[in-house]
Amino acid sequence: MADRILKKEDLGRLIASVNAKGGQFIAPALDARQVVFKPVTKAEEVVTDYIVARNSYKELVFPQTEVVADFTIGKHGVDLKGRDVAPQETIVFGARPCEAVSLSSLRAIFTWDYIDEFYTKREDALVVITVACTKADDVCFCTTVELSPETKTGSDIYLKETESGDYIVEAVTDKGRAFIEKHASAFSEGSAKAKALFIPEKIGTIDLKKISARLKDKSHYDDQVWGRLTRKCIGCGACTFVCPTCHCFDITDEGTAFAGERRKNWDACQFDTFTLHASGHNPRHYQYQRWRNRFMCKFNYYPEKFASKGCVGCGRCIRVCPVRLDITEVMEEFSK
Ligand code: SF4
Ligand code: SF4
Repeated sequence: MADRILKKEDLGRLIASVNAKGGQFIAPALDARQVVFKPVTKAEEVVTDYIVARNSYKELVFPQTEVVADFTIGKHGVDLKGRDVAPQETIVFGARPCEAVSLSSLRAIFTWDYIDEFYTKREDALVVITVACTKADDVCFCTTVELSPETKTGSDIYLKETESGDYIVEAVTDKGRAFIEKHASAFSEGSAKAKALFIPEKIGTIDLKKISARLKDKSHYDDQVWGRLTRKCIGCGACTFVCPTCHCFDITDEGTAFAGERRKNWDACQFDTFTLHASGHNPRHYQYQRWRNRFMCKFNYYPEKFASKGCVGCGRCIRVCPVRLDITEVMEEFSK
């Protein structure tokens, strides 16, 4: 049977078709000399030689800041009107298989005790087109968290590059199949040989079961390992902002004494004000305690509560950390 192919010269046609039908096309592209996910309108803007984009595409479904309600304060009290969200179809092209998995983790959080339609409606309008990895860098560790470039969970369409720069197309979900039908003129049939995928070597000194068992034993709270390994963290929060599964936000009211906006803003458990109480007490007074919380979230809370991945091994947090704090070193320590 013939393969479905997206030829490199048809990528521009696909982008134009998406834009013409009212959608936005997001792809890895250069911004300030870094490869990031951003809207593109031409194939020439798309970067194909990259490991992972610097930012996660989570910001498409969970923006850094957004207005969720408007309020006025008058003689008769406060009038609060919630905003609605009607997202346009959004295509993310060039996601990697590891981070496609993170969508189910985010959905678990945003539909847990409350259905957050600001998230769910955006995710419903999102089509994830994954390009499987043919190379990796020294901080990719998807296989260590039981994923791989062959993982298709979370992808609507899964692409494999060919030697000539085209893509072999596999529709994974109904959403993906509907997308291909809608933009059929950009796809063709043929046969092609896929480039070999690059499967990163599993880090043999990491054992997720041992990490989980250790984190369930509360005696680890006062383990000196936390201070020793995470002391250098400066609490900048960069790791949380680029992480595809980090999801913390806060709600602030901004405006005057008479009217304003209620905003949902990204927050980060690494910030020293994250759990600061109005009394001045902070249950996570020290940075190592905040770091411990992030690690617990990834390897205890997410898997225990939602049976989903808290860490997909994309390595972004290691790449951006200004003090080179490597989460895999902490994983190794807790695998002993
Ligand atoms: S914790 Fe780091 S490696 Fe794991 S998913 Fe988040 S950014 Fe990627
Ligand atoms: S990026 Fe590094 S320094 Fe910044 S909060 Fe994360 S671990 Fe700490």
